[in-house]
Amino acid sequence: MRLFLLIIFIYPFFLFSQQAGEFKFDVTEQCLTDTERQFIFKEIEENIQLLKIDLKSDHRKKSLAFEWPLQKDTSLAFNNYFGISNYVDQDTAINSILDYNCLSRSYDGHKGTDIFTWPFPWYMYNNGYVNVIASEDGIIINKHDGYDDDHCANTMGGTWNAVYVQHYDGSIAWYGHLEKNTLTSKQIGQSVVKGEYLGKVASSGYSTGPHLHFEIYDSMWNLIDPFQGTCNILNQNSWWLNQRAYRVPMLNALLTHSAKPVHGCPGINEEPNISSNFNIGDTIFLAAYFSDRQSGDSAVYRVFDANNNLWQTWNQVTSTTFNASWYYWKRLLPQNGPFGYWRFEIEFQNQMFSHEFLYTNPLFIEDKQNSRRDLLLITDILGRKSPIVRNKLLFYIYNDGSVEKRLIYK
Ligand SMILES: [Zn+2]
Repeated sequence: MRLFLLIIFIYPFFLFSQQAGEFKFDVTEQCLTDTERQFIFKEIEENIQLLKIDLKSDHRKKSLAFEWPLQKDTSLAFNNYFGISNYVDQDTAINSILDYNCLSRSYDGHKGTDIFTWPFPWYMYNNGYVNVIASEDGIIINKHDGYDDDHCANTMGGTWNAVYVQHYDGSIAWYGHLEKNTLTSKQIGQSVVKGEYLGKVASSGYSTGPHLHFEIYDSMWNLIDPFQGTCNILNQNSWWLNQRAYRVPMLNALLTHSAKPVHGCPGINEEPNISSNFNIGDTIFLAAYFSDRQSGDSAVYRVFDANNNLWQTWNQVTSTTFNASWYYWKRLLPQNGPFGYWRFEIEFQNQMFSHEFLYTNPLFIEDKQNSRRDLLLITDILGRKSPIVRNKLLFYIYNDGSVEKRLIYK
């Protein structure tokens, strides 16, 4: 799968200087070639014979109800962390594309569902934030590991890292493009349960960015599309416990940056520039990241200062539907403060999300030796995070471990 970043700069607003971008998946190559696919089937067949696994006559569990195959680590503060770029191509004719929902969100001959991590997929990859988990109970029937997983030029190509799980009705799920050396330590022939860790999302094989390729075969090894829909000619029923809607507009993250964020690949390195600490007179980049944001979806943004007064607000309505999109606004923070915790807020899809950042005056927090320390947190006497207020005892906690007591008189 080829992932291509296209940045479109639209509406240079004279007031808000909004800039926007989209992740576009411009796909020209298969996640897997047919030769590789045949080879994998041959290996699976051999493993089944070798291990004498006969799940087609196993009675432990026949009906399937897939769980979502990805799970984020609880330490990742994003609201959502993925989007869908490609469904199964239902149209076998060359150069025609049809997904289960009678649209063309796929590429020619695609045999799986591509779920990409977003925003900052390489940041998530580097921190191991996104796990691939078993959608159903079954037995590991094959594994591939040890291949390059961090490329975003699909010329790297070749074999991917993957786990293949056969369910107790004989059907098989393929989990591909995983990170090298992160695969479950369980061996071929061992069982896994629904929700169990299989590996980390990465970009091994024919791939230009971290994503999971999820490919399903029934017990006769006919290709399945787990999504039920009018144009799914492969199978009648949904294979999901709860099938996701075709599009689920979501805020993936609301962030602040010290410089314009750079979305990597191909050819450029990702630079998230995420920061929640700003000094007097700094420029701040306020940004929102979405998946499945649709044409006509509106959002209201608000920035509140450290005194909880509304500093700025603006509305935004999108005119195009994107699998993944992002928007940012560049602002100069006021020289005169107020200093303390500010709040960036968004109202989207009848939900409110907020992100806090600390705005400080470095002169004010410089220590006696005049060596700069970074302020991490300001708390009150009970250890609760506090804005900078007068006539109240505050504790300034720095990154060098020092703590200062401060009392500002009116
Ligand atoms: Zn794929």
